[in-house]
Amino acid sequence: MNSERKQHLRELPSANLCLDHPEVRALLRAYPRQRVVSAVRMAIGQMRIGLLQGQLGWLSRNELLVLAVSQVRTTLLGQACEGIQRVINATGIILHTNLGRAVLPEVSLEALVSVGRGYSNLELDLTTGKRSSRQAHVEGMLAKLTGAEAALVVNNNAAAVFLCLHTLANGKEVVVSRGEQIEIGDSFRIPDVIRQTGAKLVEVGTTNRTYLSDYANAITASTMVLLKVQRSNFHMVGFVASVSCGELAALARSRGLISMEDLGSGNLADLSRFGLRAQPTVNHSISEGIDLVTFSGDKLLGGPQAGIIVGRRHLVQRLAKNPIVRIMRIDKLTIAALEALLELYLDDEGLVEALPVLSMLALTQPELEARAVQLASLILDNVNGKGNAAVIDAEGEMGGGAMPGIKLPGKAVAFRPGHRSAHQIQTSLRLVGSQPPGGCLLPVVALVDADQVVFHLRTLLPGDEAEIVKALAVVMGGPST
Ligand SMILES: *Cc1c(COP(=O)(O)O)cnc(C)c1O
Repeated sequence: MNSERKQHLRELPSANLCLDHPEVRALLRAYPRQRVVSAVRMAIGQMRIGLLQGQLGWLSRNELLVLAVSQVRTTLLGQACEGIQRVINATGIILHTNLGRAVLPEVSLEALVSVGRGYSNLELDLTTGKRSSRQAHVEGMLAKLTGAEAALVVNNNAAAVFLCLHTLANGKEVVVSRGEQIEIGDSFRIPDVIRQTGAKLVEVGTTNRTYLSDYANAITASTMVLLKVQRSNFHMVGFVASVSCGELAALARSRGLISMEDLGSGNLADLSRFGLRAQPTVNHSISEGIDLVTFSGDKLLGGPQAGIIVGRRHLVQRLAKNPIVRIMRIDKLTIAALEALLELYLDDEGLVEALPVLSMLALTQPELEARAVQLASLILDNVNGKGNAAVIDAEGEMGGGAMPGIKLPGKAVAFRPGHRSAHQIQTSLRLVGSQPPGGCLLPVVALVDADQVVFHLRTLLPGDEAEIVKALAVVMGGPST
């Protein structure tokens, strides 16, 4: 080996020197020590190979240290955990399907932990000591809250729709407006689902306008169901017309048919108190006479993933007897969480505060602004002048196929990361997560706009601001206290 290379090798930093570097010390506060140490050893080892093989040009002692430190950070950030874990939602989208939709209320979490930790009366009637139905825990409350005669809960709303049509319309015709032939995403397309149930889809009306007479004229001896589908993820404006659930229910009744509504993000609370355009409620559809209404548990309702069916008792009884219901049954944890959630709806006073989905929706501009100002200043204190942070106006949305077209005015912190690109920082923020035990950083999901990383305040939970600051300090190499 030539002496120049030998000399160069002696300039490589030691592991201890790296571990003592302020940026690595910040990493040590965020990651388990063992992981940082092995990342340091790996960085030095790779640089040694680079020098020996001549791939690494001549660098000063200090430049080698800086390179090693940046290599350590890259290694740690690249080891993002593969398993499911909590993440911070800074997107301003309250029901983000990719991020798990609704954040559960505390009472639901307590209920599912308690039921999961031991045995439960899942299918046991404690009064009689006899076998009972798991549905009994939620059916009564659902009926009470929606005004329906009976209820049945399955795995998700897609399953609920499938179960209804498979049970009631197999081999028969289901009439749906052309304006409601929707796709929800993840390949849930109303026409495909209907075909899979064995029912025959009969389309009526046009894309933008469907009248009651369209439904009436389509009814044949084979017709069984008149189906209405909520346009949950898009919004139709202009020259449009559709039939109200009351009209559809009345037509079905007069012709001896079943009226059904897939309400998607159907909810139980009146959201007009938030100054929002009225959203379809389950109670409204039931009171208008719809025979069966289906909706999701984890959309506007704000609970666990579930498909809830409410409506006429004789129809719900037929659904419960369909053998296919076993394939889509909900587990005890969901029942526990859902039951606790529904109890919240019995008390209208405390509802908004207790239900994260509604608390987020209820946040006012001054509240969001105050939190944004605080986050911006925390960020500036912790990134060592390596970027700039400012409070901006930013619109969020409900998401998850709820309240399409409605923007929620809000506040965000826009971070301009000095000489690095916002996309690079956005990616690194997603990768900072470290797995327990010892892991103490949560991945942060933020947005990018105009080369700034944008953190929306509305979807942050208490304590999330501190997590964002910690993660950003690690990613930017700031001090992180
Ligand atoms: C979201 C949605 C579904 C699917 O509900 P999941 O609970 O996600 O299965 C079905 N129909 C409509 C109208 C929806 O908005």
